[in-house]
Amino acid sequence: MLLTDIRNLLKNSKLRLPLLRNAGFMSALFFPEPSMTRFILPLSLCLLSHASFAADSQLLDATSLNRAAELRDTALQQNEAYALLESLTTEIGPRMAGSPADARAVAWTEQQFKALGYDKVILQPVTFPVWQRGPEKADVLSPFPQQLLITTLGGSIGTDGKPLDAEVVEFASLDALKVAPENSLNGKIAFINKRMERHKNGSGYSPVVAGRSEGAVEAAKKGAVAIVIRSVGTDSDRLPHTGQMRYDAAVNKIPAAALSVPDADLLENMLKRGKPVTLRLDIVAGFNGTYTSHNVIGEIRGREQPDEFVVIGGHLDSWDLGTGAVDDGAGVSITMAAGALIGAMKQAPRRSIRVIAFANEEQGLYGAKAYAETHKDTVANHQIGAESDFGAGRIYALTAGVSEEVWPVLEQIGTVLAPLGITTEKGKGGAGPDIGPIVALGMPWASLQQDGTDYFDLHHTANDTLDKVDPKALDQQVAAYAAFAYLTAESMMDFGSVPKKLEEKK
Ligand SMILES: [Zn+2]
Repeated sequence: MLLTDIRNLLKNSKLRLPLLRNAGFMSALFFPEPSMTRFILPLSLCLLSHASFAADSQLLDATSLNRAAELRDTALQQNEAYALLESLTTEIGPRMAGSPADARAVAWTEQQFKALGYDKVILQPVTFPVWQRGPEKADVLSPFPQQLLITTLGGSIGTDGKPLDAEVVEFASLDALKVAPENSLNGKIAFINKRMERHKNGSGYSPVVAGRSEGAVEAAKKGAVAIVIRSVGTDSDRLPHTGQMRYDAAVNKIPAAALSVPDADLLENMLKRGKPVTLRLDIVAGFNGTYTSHNVIGEIRGREQPDEFVVIGGHLDSWDLGTGAVDDGAGVSITMAAGALIGAMKQAPRRSIRVIAFANEEQGLYGAKAYAETHKDTVANHQIGAESDFGAGRIYALTAGVSEEVWPVLEQIGTVLAPLGITTEKGKGGAGPDIGPIVALGMPWASLQQDGTDYFDLHHTANDTLDKVDPKALDQQVAAYAAFAYLTAESMMDFGSVPKKLEEKK
């Protein structure tokens, strides 16, 4: 088939999706690699620009837009998300995956979906290894004896039931550690001392987080017996930030912990004096069996296309140190409240809405992967998804990974969001972590981007608690999610989900 033929076929938008869905050739042309979809789409579709306008029949009508505006305005008066978050943090609290609170959180969510009037609640089993944190302590033994505040990184082993004493070797970054000579860390503790920058969109995270996730493997390759890192955080509280790390089966496992930001400063100042610094780590941690938790899915049934879904949600698990108010109790509460508002409408939207409280995001996206695996053959029914997992700050932008043809509908949705202080921006951002695996299989995504300026002050710390959350900011987000989910579910537009089987991805 020639490109001109494809152009002609694409002029008829009704033909477009069945073709994309059935023709491996077309899929390969437009979506050669799932992870590249959002980068390639704008390029490929600009070749077809004359075919890339939504037909009037696919645009939202005035009635739908007015109803969405009503939903938006109702949400702003409601405080429903805050009530849910207050309940979750008070009655369940920290809910680390595989802990006893995990099951209580699942039961809480199921009960809340039912109480909020959702048409259907689905529990999808999700199995994963259980990691447990025990006591954790760090002391400088010499030359300036004092305690340093640490927390063990998720997935780490402990110090084998006894204190581990070793000299500290500092590195400015993970990259600096990677180029250290072989065996140069034999018997030593590596210290990655890279500071995270504060940015509204959280862009300071990715340059630093690899030190947390990969540091133990790189340090062990050089002979280290343990690793400590400067917390991946932007605060100056004496509260370390936990988070997941991983091992490589081919490399010796060593314990890994994070120092609070002020404690990393303290260790840095000691090392500046040029004398060897000996640190004692005494950590109990490790894996203990497997556990089956659940993705909890609340569904508002669509009136015309009940088997087509708009997906919103967040993750139900949290780390154990705080009560998981901003990460991600807020996201779960916001999207549950948004779905409930739509469920309370006189007439349901055309398509169904699924609000998913994902299991065990923190330790490796287990719930997200299970959802994608289960739905790999029905990805095409997943019209579009958006996820709330960046704290409780206000939403300031709508972005999306959709084709040019679909974009006018996003702009229409943007007109309903504009009074909330939300701009519509093409070609920015990306899908969230939990919808990531199904987006990789072909589901289009949208992102309601939150102000994350303060997010990494709290992220994965004991300070992640309800008092940090502004109820009015939650209402603004419920308003945005409700309007977005309603309009995408009501839309006549096919958002262009392209099924891709897991096998193709491999
Ligand atoms: Zn999160």
